[in-house]
Amino acid sequence: MNDTKHLKLASLCVKDHLVEAKVKPHALPLMPTSSFEFEDAQESIDAFIDTSKTHVYSRYGNPTVDAAARKLALLEGVNLSDTPACVLCSTGMAAISTLLSAILSQGDAILTQGSIYGGTTELLNKVFTKMGIKTIFVDLRDEAKVREAISTNPEIKLIYVETPSNPSLQCVDLKKLSTLAQDLGVRTAIDNTFATPYLQRPFEYGIDYIIHSTTKFLNGHGNSLAGAILCRSHDEMKEKIWPHVKLLGTSCAVFDAWLLNTGMRTLAIRMERHCDNAEALAQYLSEHPKVSHVNYPGLPHHESHSIASAQMTRYGGMLSFELRAGLEGGKTLMTALNMCSIAPTLGDVDTLVLHPASSSHLRVEREMRIANGITDGLVRCSVGIESIEDIIADYDQALAQC
Ligand SMILES: *Cc1c(COP(=O)(O)O)cnc(C)c1O
Repeated sequence: MNDTKHLKLASLCVKDHLVEAKVKPHALPLMPTSSFEFEDAQESIDAFIDTSKTHVYSRYGNPTVDAAARKLALLEGVNLSDTPACVLCSTGMAAISTLLSAILSQGDAILTQGSIYGGTTELLNKVFTKMGIKTIFVDLRDEAKVREAISTNPEIKLIYVETPSNPSLQCVDLKKLSTLAQDLGVRTAIDNTFATPYLQRPFEYGIDYIIHSTTKFLNGHGNSLAGAILCRSHDEMKEKIWPHVKLLGTSCAVFDAWLLNTGMRTLAIRMERHCDNAEALAQYLSEHPKVSHVNYPGLPHHESHSIASAQMTRYGGMLSFELRAGLEGGKTLMTALNMCSIAPTLGDVDTLVLHPASSSHLRVEREMRIANGITDGLVRCSVGIESIEDIIADYDQALAQC
């Protein structure tokens, strides 16, 4: 770089004047630059020959974003001999749509389950169908149904699973599913948003691709949107997946990656507390006369308790429950809760509550909603890390009004 001392005022305004300091930042620096400079023509040529060796343009990669991706890759690969590849995207939806468009082609089909994140169902039905990629819904816990679906439909190239699932917290046996998929010659992808790698590491069970909405527990503070795609093979990431991130422009924003990186620093301690509090709240609710049923895989009666115990280290911060007072009860509870916030997200440090029938599923036909497990009195709770006494006291006074 040339010296800038001789430049006129307007030019000095335009230029950035990095002072080379011999200091090493202890925390990850935020590097909001759209591009990177080259010293000379040769450096530029080398960079464009292999863009993975250096940074060129932030849509292709950025040091702040890559550092956060590296942390997440290390977490998902903590027990593996080789660290998986990870690329961050602008949102969880961007991660899902980018992965699917990278690994599937027109004429292929996806096998998935009825109870997945609502946005994913919509993406598959509205966007991918239009692109000639069909989706078939089955209960992925039913091995015979999965085998039958795949062996009668050679178009199926991918099984897409979510476990624990939203909002009933049902779990799918990942080892069984990946073994079956390998046997039948199809690949497997998981949305690991609810569990995070702190509680469940799907690569250890043979799953091929992991996606995350890092917006939730991984960031944990509800102040950034981002997503992640992970796969075991760095070559596959580089040749097949990353070009789609780059060309679809679904790359992660620098500031959001930086916030995510800070959030992940406390993931371990936050997840322990989320689990402690969710276990206690689930127990409290399961003994409450106004509650007919609690969905939490940590409860011994939950249908997925044994699978969750086998493949997760603990049971997570999400639970849902059924109010005997139905639709009206749900609305009353929402309004009566004081400390717990009504917010359509999850995984934040504070306790969040959602009554799908009167909010996210308000426009969904009642029959269809109920067929998907969203009953009138169902309440979903993302249990935060506050003092458990305050969470239970808030529910106690609110339930008394239902
Ligand atoms: C929120 C969420 C998504 C979508 O993520 P965004 O970051 O909102 O795009 C996908 N899957 C699950 C399980 C989620 O909770």
